[in-house]
Amino acid sequence: ERPPHLVAVLVGNDGASQTYVNNKIKSCRECGFESTLIKKDHATTEDELIRLIKRLNVDDSVDGFIVQLPLPKHIDANKVLLTINPEKDVDGFTPQNFGLMALGLPSYKPATPYGILKLIQRNNIDPTGKRCVVVGRSNIVGKPIGIMLGQNKSIGNCTVTILNSHTQNIEKYTREADILIVAIGQPKMIKADMVKEGAIVIDVGITRVSDDSTKGYHLEGDVDFEDVAPKTSFITPVPGGVGPMTVTMLLYNTLLARKKVVQIV
Ligand code: NDP
Repeated sequence: ERPPHLVAVLVGNDGASQTYVNNKIKSCRECGFESTLIKKDHATTEDELIRLIKRLNVDDSVDGFIVQLPLPKHIDANKVLLTINPEKDVDGFTPQNFGLMALGLPSYKPATPYGILKLIQRNNIDPTGKRCVVVGRSNIVGKPIGIMLGQNKSIGNCTVTILNSHTQNIEKYTREADILIVAIGQPKMIKADMVKEGAIVIDVGITRVSDDSTKGYHLEGDVDFEDVAPKTSFITPVPGGVGPMTVTMLLYNTLLARKKVVQIV
């Protein structure tokens, strides 16, 4: 029996995207999964990309594939996502998987929110009845994690508030959070005075901040870790917290795809 096979499609040369994709490919290797990286240059057209996806959709040697976001501006990412075969959509980004997830039905769950659920579960945190505030409402992180934690599931039953860039006085909400999830891409924006004593803080943000190191940058989360950590009962670092969990759950989804255990209707 062959191992699970994940294909990652990378368009363009965004440095952070290259790093993410390389991490995913490396993790496949470490787990004994087969992996293929398909690199397309920045000038690739939307039609070319869609043709590639249509090939992957029907390639029996491929269990799951991802199209690394963001895509170059001349390509409509929504149109691309709508082309992906939901049965191979191990990122859980297609309308079928998002819809099934939102209905609480079996689906490929988006890897980052799924990783956050696992972090909560494996650290024996019972979210039931807790106030959860999610800062950020993107389709890949904020919106789905808000939906999942509000659901009537064993890791769920939170009272959820999802904030966006128009929210006035975000600290008014963040200070009430028993579980605070931040996914905005604003380095160190969350400070200790915005967080409740004993809160659980999950930092999704990853931003490259320039410095004079040899690499020329370092990574920063959305939470000022040094400032906030002493106040919390649990906090995830950047790098190292949610990032590796995202990769882990992507591989887990690929394993599910190999075994064809998720029935997408
Ligand atoms: P998007 O840029 O798609 O969305 C950001 C969201 O944050 C938007 O909803 C935006 O609001 C909101 N926002 C921005 N600034 C503020 C603010 N000051 N106050 C309140 N809300 C704000 O980002 P993603 O969700 O894709 O990613 C968020 C961060 O997480 C990034 O740093 C990204 O690199 C990182 N990331 C990390 C992953 C991991 O594996 N650890 C995986 C995916 C992302 P509005 O909608 O109004 O514009």
